[in-house]
Amino acid sequence: MSRFLPVLAPAPRPMAAPVNERVAPRAVRISITDRCDLACVYCRPNRKDGYLPAAQRLTAERWETLVRGLAQRGIRRVRITGGEPLVHPHVVDIVRAIARVPGIDDVALTTNGTRLTALAPALRDAGLRRVNVSIDSLDPSRFFRLTRGGRLSDVLDGVDAARRAGFRDLKTNTVALAGENEHELETIVRWAWSLDATPRLLELMSVGHGARLSSCTMPYPAMRARLAALLGDDDPAPEPDRGPARYVRARDGVHRVGFITGASESFCAGCDRLRVSSDGRLRPCLATNDAVDVTRELRLGDLAGIGARLDEAWAEKPDGELWRGCREDAARDVDMRSTGG
Ligand code: SAM
Repeated sequence: MSRFLPVLAPAPRPMAAPVNERVAPRAVRISITDRCDLACVYCRPNRKDGYLPAAQRLTAERWETLVRGLAQRGIRRVRITGGEPLVHPHVVDIVRAIARVPGIDDVALTTNGTRLTALAPALRDAGLRRVNVSIDSLDPSRFFRLTRGGRLSDVLDGVDAARRAGFRDLKTNTVALAGENEHELETIVRWAWSLDATPRLLELMSVGHGARLSSCTMPYPAMRARLAALLGDDDPAPEPDRGPARYVRARDGVHRVGFITGASESFCAGCDRLRVSSDGRLRPCLATNDAVDVTRELRLGDLAGIGARLDEAWAEKPDGELWRGCREDAARDVDMRSTGG
């Protein structure tokens, strides 16, 4: 029986989805909860959209089993995301459980930062090594509006707390939105640099709710133009084993800026990433709701079975055709909170 199950409304599939034989899976993004304390305008339709029942969420023990199974098949890097991972009541236990899995050499987390003040030291002690903080504006009222109620000071305090807790290599994520925060990009970059963080600017992708705001997408050349005073003409270069961002050195020779250009490009050829939703479904691609259910193997503690499910999901990993199809709305029904962005 096929374990390929649609999670939400099924997205249109390409006629033939070529098997991704170019790279082996090395990285996994786990969305430990679809809950979030913010409701960013491009991510959620409102603050009242539904969540999965808490009982369906994997426990820390199940996440550890899952990562053990994946590590036996070559996964080396884990990024914890959501929803908002720091609203999960057991996020510290999950980090601790994953960090001790043999073979995992990088445990990172993407957060909106609102709860870092309370949690940064415990996360660090539990084995978390790297943190990315999403922040789309340094203007309190714009931040409030874009996040539908978020308080900017919570995030700024959270970033300070992360630094005090010893997190180095901090990165910030900013979705560049035409007509919204575009004139803030230089300020955000300078602010991140002042904290020894690496700022990254993201094109808004036509995935999930983002598809409804695609007219706000600010293409990479427009972002570069906004940063012309800070960056030279260098082409951006990827950071090995660190995902799709590409980095440009600043004119000062010290700093850099990352760009994630998911709207204008496809990263499919080099993609070594798998995603897992909070209810235990392996998802081979951000642009589709297709998923392989691995909950039975988790219940049984069947590590070889988890590896087999990974192989199944990986065999269905689509190539760039599906991603290009996002522009024709193929990914409109994908929920970023399940895939973890
Ligand atoms: N709550 C956490 C956070 O805010 O970072 C983790 C989950 S969030 C889905 C992960 C990242 O995806 C954030 O940086 C967010 O800005 C980004 N994101 C969400 N929807 C997006 C879209 N349509 N296009 C580009 N980035 C998006």
